[in-house]
Amino acid sequence: MLRNRFQITMILAATMMAAGFMPVTASAQASRSPVAPRRELVESVVREAYDKFKGETNGKNADYIPYLAQVDSKLFGIAIVTADNQVLTLGDVNYSFSIQSISKVFTLALALEELGPDKVFQRIGSEPTGRPFNSVPAVVDMPTHSGNPLVNAGAIATMSLISGKDANEKWNKILAFYSKAAGERLTLIEEVYKSEAATNAGNKALSMLLAKYDRIYADPFESVDIYTKQCSVGVNASQLARMGATLANNGINPATREQVIKREHVPYLLATMTMAGLYDSSGYWAWHVGLPAKSGVGGGIVAIVPGKGAIAVFAPPLDEAGNSVKAQKVIEYVANKLDFNLYSPASVGLK
Ligand code: GLN
Repeated sequence: MLRNRFQITMILAATMMAAGFMPVTASAQASRSPVAPRRELVESVVREAYDKFKGETNGKNADYIPYLAQVDSKLFGIAIVTADNQVLTLGDVNYSFSIQSISKVFTLALALEELGPDKVFQRIGSEPTGRPFNSVPAVVDMPTHSGNPLVNAGAIATMSLISGKDANEKWNKILAFYSKAAGERLTLIEEVYKSEAATNAGNKALSMLLAKYDRIYADPFESVDIYTKQCSVGVNASQLARMGATLANNGINPATREQVIKREHVPYLLATMTMAGLYDSSGYWAWHVGLPAKSGVGGGIVAIVPGKGAIAVFAPPLDEAGNSVKAQKVIEYVANKLDFNLYSPASVGLK
């Protein structure tokens, strides 16, 4: 059992084979990207990170959503998917957890698809709030009120931009879009949805406050309900890494080769993740890690290495800001060891 957890498997997704794509070898990858690290190096660094942080006991499961308090705090999984669809997994990578706030990035991507960047920017904004993700004062104080698409208020407002003849059509469109980004059909974790829907008075309050300022674009409670569903979508670490790799790969899912997100929208998504992906510790993250990333209170974090791939880590205990403690440590360690920090000249091969 323990041995299994320590096994790193390098697999090429079956979908890629099924689609008739030739597996890309490490040397082919190297010829495409002179700065992509060697596979053996990535494997050993990920294993080091796993061993180093598996005993980490800091942090606490989210408990304001009752379901999340019950999730096993020891679950720990790491997945990497590269732009050429190499997959590396370690630990509890088959456990399906709720995507939570990481969903906000993909609903934003869908809003960009439907309305284009200028309208989304004007209707939502993109300034960091410097406040917790569910802050009421931020809605009052921020000139845009909605703040940005990655805090709850801005995410509910972003969801309200998605078109559809009724709530069901909007929800199905969102779920289908996430599934395309993951390259697999994703589903709602019904228990998470029920648990969160029964306790989301705070988000309903945010939606009414947005309505007061005319910064929500559909029925406020309907929008909160669909937002609650989007947060309750189940993903495992591998699926989450593939969603991230789609962003890393110019919007093309590396497994299915489908252009899920327009290439020209990717920079807006990555910029937004840099500003607010880890809420009020996004500044810490930019300083220490230098990668666009997004966290969720379910315990997942995905970080994007543009052009190269994505790393997703799942471990439920969170810090004060609502970010997985272990996931942050693993990604920080791996990014530093592999020179992934985007602000470092080493990340583009300059030593
Ligand atoms: N569904 C959660 C909420 O609305 C998402 C928060 C998060 O992951 N930070 O509070």
